[in-house]
Amino acid sequence: MQGRDAGELVDQIDAMIEMNGITHERDGLNLNPATNVMNPRAEEILGSGIGSRPSLGHPGEKYEMGLTWLEDIEVTAQALAAETFRADFAEIRVGSGAMANLYVFMACAQAGDAVIVPPASIGGHVTHHQAGAAGLYGLDIHEAPIDVENHTVDVDGVADLARRVQPKVITIGTSLNLFPHPIEALREIADEVGATLMFDAAHLSGPIAGGSWPDPLARGAHVMTMSTYKSLGGPPSGLLVTNDATIAERVDAIAYPGLTANFDVASSASLAIALLDWRDFGSTYAKRMHDTAAALAHELIELGVPVHRTERGVTESHAFAIDASALEGNTAGGHELALRLEACGLLASAIGLPKDIGTANASGLRIGTNELVRWGYQKRHMAALASLIAEGITSENPKLVMSRVATFRRGHRDVHLVHDHRPRDRYHDHRVAGSRSAGRRRR
Ligand SMILES: *Cc1c(COP(=O)(O)O)cnc(C)c1O
Repeated sequence: MQGRDAGELVDQIDAMIEMNGITHERDGLNLNPATNVMNPRAEEILGSGIGSRPSLGHPGEKYEMGLTWLEDIEVTAQALAAETFRADFAEIRVGSGAMANLYVFMACAQAGDAVIVPPASIGGHVTHHQAGAAGLYGLDIHEAPIDVENHTVDVDGVADLARRVQPKVITIGTSLNLFPHPIEALREIADEVGATLMFDAAHLSGPIAGGSWPDPLARGAHVMTMSTYKSLGGPPSGLLVTNDATIAERVDAIAYPGLTANFDVASSASLAIALLDWRDFGSTYAKRMHDTAAALAHELIELGVPVHRTERGVTESHAFAIDASALEGNTAGGHELALRLEACGLLASAIGLPKDIGTANASGLRIGTNELVRWGYQKRHMAALASLIAEGITSENPKLVMSRVATFRRGHRDVHLVHDHRPRDRYHDHRVAGSRSAGRRRR
């Protein structure tokens, strides 16, 4: 970058932001459940300038001056978070879902302690594995055996493993949750061996907040972590909730003075706005995500697309998977299919499936409806979307499919089920002179 003019670089970064917006909001459609579009006001607050103010210390006891108003924001956001998840305690000073998991590992285990986690073949996340927070903290990681039919961990297998390795933490909740996990049974195992049961709701935060997914805390999880920008539709951050006063107290000390010192109050304020949407539209949003996912999966199956399913069905959440390895002419897997669909403006990503156990493959392509629903798509639109996906899978002409995707996208410019109804049409009538079409570049 040396020798590059600052003005030129600023222009370039502006252009990149714009092209990204066009890729996600004009020409493309996010089928990826790991992202969302925000309430415009919540998004605006991220640029309000409050995030660079000091915030460390507890409300009422801050030793830097001028923080009264930010303290009120902190207290409000924390109370709304606890209320949204029907929990006694909420920790909002968490930079990401990954950090939330690290907080729990630090609060409930020492380096060298055993932990039992879901493997990647049922969507288990890297933050629970060797390369992520669990491994970096030095935990002794044991992957749970799986129950293929229910797309979760095998309860008897976890019980045997737990008696053998005496874990301090048992984690459940993955990046692809199809059916409710056996929380009550896992809690019994945790109680027997003296472990903490952590539910990772990175993806399920929205369905849990809106009541379309059984509440893990009410069913027995000691603590629940999550990302706030996936189905919850808030700022890019993390959140942790619990009814356990001891865990809450330890987590409080890990947040401050432990790992955050000055946290981003802009993110806290933005989260508060996002949570108010859950209070008033949450049950509708959660139900609609679920119904839309079921409808899309059904339509894809009708078109002969190999949707991953068990005897139990396809999904009871807002997400499901296509088994890319079962597609004719595509034995490569989920990532290759994701690249093919990206060329059509359909954005999704790979995910491990039970058939991948013991390999590094990710045969699945994960699809979620959280962003679709926020753009106003419902069940009735899913036949058309399924056709676009099916066409994208087989078409020799991705540009043509992309133009159809852009047409399908056109009438959906407002963010639904949020308090701020301002139209979000920044990119819809946009033309970037001389630029390549969005998202076509290969790395
Ligand atoms: C996305 C995800 C995370 C990490 O969340 P970040 O907020 O991106 O750090 C943790 N756990 C699971 C299961 C996830 O899917």
